[in-house]
Amino acid sequence: MPPSTRRKAAPPPLGEARQSQVLQLYGPGAMVDLPDYSLLIGGLDFWNNKGCDLIHEPRLLQLVRQATGMARVDLRTPPKEVDPLKNVSGSIKAFRFPEWSVAQKVSERVAFGIPCRARPLVHFNDGCIADWRTYQDDEGKYPVVPVRFVMACAHGHLSDIRWRDFCFRQFGCKNSERLYLLEAGTGNDFTQIYVQSEGGTTRKLADALVTEMSPLGLCQGQTPWLGRNARDPDKCKTDGEPTQNRLLVRSATNAYFTETLTVISLPEEANSLAKRVTELKDDLALIEAQADVAAALKFNPRLKSAFTGVDPELLWQSIEAQRGGITGQAAQPKDEELALLIGPMDGVS
Ligand SMILES: [Zn+2]
Ligand SMILES: [Zn+2]
Repeated sequence: MPPSTRRKAAPPPLGEARQSQVLQLYGPGAMVDLPDYSLLIGGLDFWNNKGCDLIHEPRLLQLVRQATGMARVDLRTPPKEVDPLKNVSGSIKAFRFPEWSVAQKVSERVAFGIPCRARPLVHFNDGCIADWRTYQDDEGKYPVVPVRFVMACAHGHLSDIRWRDFCFRQFGCKNSERLYLLEAGTGNDFTQIYVQSEGGTTRKLADALVTEMSPLGLCQGQTPWLGRNARDPDKCKTDGEPTQNRLLVRSATNAYFTETLTVISLPEEANSLAKRVTELKDDLALIEAQADVAAALKFNPRLKSAFTGVDPELLWQSIEAQRGGITGQAAQPKDEELALLIGPMDGVS
């Protein structure tokens, strides 16, 4: 199985998602199964910003600043289609993940005396994989499906299982025999799933669950949603010790959680200055001082219609506040929501 030297440049797969799906299911790092591919949604750096409207919601912004420790944060809606006729559309880039697949070429092999259905377990870089979708050998072509098992750590790092290392119980294993995934029974019972090399070296997948053996190795801090070889710069540790990788079934309901911050949107002074400044932030970007305000309004029709009649000093202050994240001490979001929804309560702070 010589590694392929060909460069595989399949066109990126296309899928569509509604904005609510993007928030709930397809956030950065989410694993997604499309009919022909299994994907990992890329981080925000891999999203384009077409159709991403700026959101003016100061209390939510404050929560995000607190949660991230970042002073400068923009809130935007997910990308969306802008102009279908001109083919201008928002997009979210995803990576193929996992990189290991199972070829749908069934043979019979025996593991520890038990006859099993065996299918080749192949990495996309193996010479026998044409385009992530087809496995080819002397006997023909067979479709591949992404392997169901990957590994992750409690800190959210994620990677493919190093199947050779696992099978041969050796870190950085250089053996290049064909690997097979073997299943006895229905394939849902871990104790009836095995990895086996062409030569017969066999290990049951259930070993991956016995953490005392460190069967999947130590977490390397991989963050594949930020790029294929991306990883955290700091060593992944738990209670001062290196973190163990754990087996993760891709389709498991606990495989991905979005981190969501929520505030109830409260009615604000309609069309307030701060709101308009946030929404027109990109148009206002060229203004570097109060002295620039007049010219910007004169030459940009959007700014002109939004800010004509506004005192330039006031506008400049508002722009600076928007840019610098100078929020002062705003009320805690939950308190403010309560105050507005139930009205003022005497004697309750
Ligand atoms: Zn980790
Ligand atoms: Zn970590």
